[in-house]
Amino acid sequence: MTAVDLGMPGLPTAPRGVGHLRGDEPFPDAARTALRNGQQRANLGHATTTIRNKRARVVAELPDWAQLREAGRALKAATMARLDDHLEELERQVTAHGGTVHWARDANEANEIVTRLVQATGATEVVKVKSMATQEIGLNEALEAAGLDVFETDLAELIVQLGEDKPSHILVPAIHKNRAEIREIFARTIPGVDPGLTDDPRQLAMAARAHLRERFLRARVAVSGANFGVAETGTLCVVESEGNGRMCLTLPDTLITVMGIEKVVPTWRDLEVFLQLLPRSSTGERMNPYTSTWAGVTPGDGPQEFHLVLLDNGRTAVLADEVGREALHCIRCSACLNVCPVYERTGGHAYGSVYPGPIGAILSPQLTGVEDNASLPYASSLCGACYDVCPVAIDIPKILVHLRGEHVEAQTRLTPEAAAFRALSAAMSRPWLWHLTQRASRLGRLLARGKPTLPRVLPPPASGWTRSRDLPTPPTSTFVESWTREHGR
Ligand code: SF4
Repeated sequence: MTAVDLGMPGLPTAPRGVGHLRGDEPFPDAARTALRNGQQRANLGHATTTIRNKRARVVAELPDWAQLREAGRALKAATMARLDDHLEELERQVTAHGGTVHWARDANEANEIVTRLVQATGATEVVKVKSMATQEIGLNEALEAAGLDVFETDLAELIVQLGEDKPSHILVPAIHKNRAEIREIFARTIPGVDPGLTDDPRQLAMAARAHLRERFLRARVAVSGANFGVAETGTLCVVESEGNGRMCLTLPDTLITVMGIEKVVPTWRDLEVFLQLLPRSSTGERMNPYTSTWAGVTPGDGPQEFHLVLLDNGRTAVLADEVGREALHCIRCSACLNVCPVYERTGGHAYGSVYPGPIGAILSPQLTGVEDNASLPYASSLCGACYDVCPVAIDIPKILVHLRGEHVEAQTRLTPEAAAFRALSAAMSRPWLWHLTQRASRLGRLLARGKPTLPRVLPPPASGWTRSRDLPTPPTSTFVESWTREHGR
């Protein structure tokens, strides 16, 4: 990919996304397994409740939060409308400041570019700042397959890596682990760790710190993601809470940043909005502990070689969908995960993709194509809590319904659900048939005689519907009958 080729209607699009965007089994099956893990449910319930309450407190402090949120939404919408111009400006500015820009159509191209760049330095290992984009493309696996050692330096990401696990949350990848489980992982995997290590948070943090310090000091190459890329100045921006990112971004000789193309913002001033929205929505903090910005290369200060890999991997296809493209506005704060009743119970692994929760349910199916992730748009109760907390006002429920519609339209045979809705549509468009249907449904009460509800499971072909729902007993009267009784007409 050597030029910006955006998938607007009528224009060719780049390939759909590949990498860690889909799981081995559909969401309902993976969720059923996750729900059986009582310890994980307890860990998730505790962690999401804590972050959720913290966010609510700090958001309530700002009297102009609604205006700030609207500014974030408007900035993102305007940026997407001219994404090609902003990306080309970013490329010009990064190059002018001594950096090199690479364009990657998909995960495979991005992995090849990064591997080649690391090998060209002669280094045999890299340190990494936590990055969703590199998880999406499976960069660690690609580098390891090329014989390179990769060290995650974010504490939670390190726990996941040492435990040979997968991240379960965008911001807190080890949210499903408690202190005792983390102690066990450290005791088992960190070379030379104190055998008397306890599950005291300070002790655990110090053990990780000692382990990582050594890696920071000898690293010659670092790989990062980017929260924002400023087109007008060529500045990249990474926000983090532990200082590990600052070490990776300043100590090594070579820095390689992999950034999704949707992370560009037009001007430096735009950061003013997003750097207020992001910390309050993500960690519930008033400002971010470490905000690192850099543009290209500065002689004698920090990495002397800088490469920016601009990643498509399905994003231009998302941009081509006028409803679904709002998913590209996401600033990865994870607020929608922390309020989602589905995520809170299943955790992130059930979604199969590196993007879990409500944002994953709309982003992953669009990156891969809906049919390759067809169960995710249904992983929601459509309660709307995700939309209420989203700092850039992404209407997640609307996109979920839109994607469900796409999935239904893509079916070539008549499913039981489609047949049921066709029958319902026929009945509802003829008043006499609708009244008859309502009366007939009351036969169900006869079946339920002497029982509080009907049998909970319907026989095939309707059994799929009652697999995750209770079948309600029909009411004694219809709405029209109740209204007439109450109001006399
Ligand atoms: S969709 Fe909104 S709430 Fe969810 S992670 Fe993205 S920005 Fe945050």
